Amino acid sequence: RPDRHLNVTLLPFGRRQRLLLARDISDLTRLEQIRRDFVANVSHELRTPLTVIHGYLELLDPEDVPELAPVLGEMRAQSKRMGQIVEDLLTLSRLETQEHVADERVAMAPLLATLRKEAEALSQGRHHIVLESTAEADLLGSPKDLHSALSNLVSNAVRYTPAGGTITIRWQRSPDGAVYSVSDTGFGIPASHLSRLTERFYRVSSSRSRDSGGTGLGLSIVKHVLNLHQARLQIESTPGQGSTFSCHFGRERLLGPAGAEES
Ligand code: ADP
Repeated sequence: RPDRHLNVTLLPFGRRQRLLLARDISDLTRLEQIRRDFVANVSHELRTPLTVIHGYLELLDPEDVPELAPVLGEMRAQSKRMGQIVEDLLTLSRLETQEHVADERVAMAPLLATLRKEAEALSQGRHHIVLESTAEADLLGSPKDLHSALSNLVSNAVRYTPAGGTITIRWQRSPDGAVYSVSDTGFGIPASHLSRLTERFYRVSSSRSRDSGGTGLGLSIVKHVLNLHQARLQIESTPGQGSTFSCHFGRERLLGPAGAEES
């Protein structure tokens, strides 16, 4: 029946036979759809009131009531944070329902230069920022989504690395295509957390993460953007020494520098 969703697996059974396992996952699929719609609707409804609150807070002048200045500052920061969470949830909803991405050229040289500038702006001179770009290739995909995913890894590296550390952004060839990676000499992540990092709102240390200003949705967005580009996220980390987040892009997503497609 067209309204049923089946999960079908073919297993070896004995020497010559195969076992066909079909599980009816229609209820699960429907629940997942309800969850997605709910999150998208709530986020959408919150957008307007938050914009209004944020707008009025910006209009208030702390000099009018100096004793309220710290409170006003905190209210502005928190309303900005809520706005960012709502925007990230809307981005995730869009990515979850999207099946394909645009096939546009994403010029890597200017993008890498921008990512380095973003790292420097966020670090404010507290870290050593290094850019190593040896892959003379551009990417094929969505410029906006790729920028946001690759930039997320840079901002995490800065936020989870104490002052004096080094952040290295790399764009290199690999046997299967090319790899974009961000390494840091920061806090690192215990192995037991690695497999759950891309879940929504999953955090290794909630207090440290909240203080660092993120929404808890960054890596989830990264994973979805990479999936849409048939790319893979690899995370390596040693607590106390640092982490490397690598995005593996296949040859089919690469464009040569002169504009000719990779063979
Ligand atoms: P957040 O907004 O909390 O940073 P993310 O989805 O970007 O959310 O990351 C999820 C969690 O993964 C973070 O809360 C943090 O605990 C951990 N994490 C991400 N990047 C790093 C990193 N470079 N070094 C250490 N921990 C990291």
